[in-house]
Amino acid sequence: MEKRTRADTFVEEISASPGGEGICLCIQCGTCTASCPNADRMDHTPSQLIAMARAGMKEEVLSSNAMWHCLSCYLCTVRCPRGIKQTDLMHALECLAIREGLSSGRTRTPAMYRSFNDFVYSLGSLPEFGFMTWFYMLTNPLRAFRMIPVALSLLRHGRLSIKARRLTPEGTSQLKAILDKAESLGGAS
Ligand code: SF4
Ligand code: SF4
Repeated sequence: MEKRTRADTFVEEISASPGGEGICLCIQCGTCTASCPNADRMDHTPSQLIAMARAGMKEEVLSSNAMWHCLSCYLCTVRCPRGIKQTDLMHALECLAIREGLSSGRTRTPAMYRSFNDFVYSLGSLPEFGFMTWFYMLTNPLRAFRMIPVALSLLRHGRLSIKARRLTPEGTSQLKAILDKAESLGGAS
């Protein structure tokens, strides 16, 4: 019987996640990394992350800050000669990192996602003022005070709303059903 390695298991786990399907097609040409506008902020470049995943370096990949710095600009996706959806792969790694409790503590993006999801799930909408205040309270309360002048300026120009717009009860329950379904299909929340 063929012996399965740690690398096989991790690659299969990624391939089975929505967005991770193309990982085995990578030829390590580096086009995604050369195209990525945020690669210099990442501890491992997009192509390195794929190579590490295929080498079975699960903890190193899932605790990387790289996927959390992805801007979803899709440059890597449109340029990949193998048709790999690298942007989706980055988001698949984010989901796996949250699920495995390995999401990087060096970025605030998971807290941003968490706040976003909590507000949309409970209200059916995203009141910018409450959302950002909650996000700063979770991550850096002092920053919330530093952002007050920006918030006041946005309020003055009608670009920020304090009042939450709510969906109808029926709309809210439909949205919750969609989010529950997404979670049951592997999405992290
Ligand atoms: S551009 Fe595509 S094939 Fe090239 S390294 Fe990136 S993911 Fe792999
Ligand atoms: S989608 Fe993400 S990984 Fe791809 S080039 Fe843009 S920032 Fe980099």
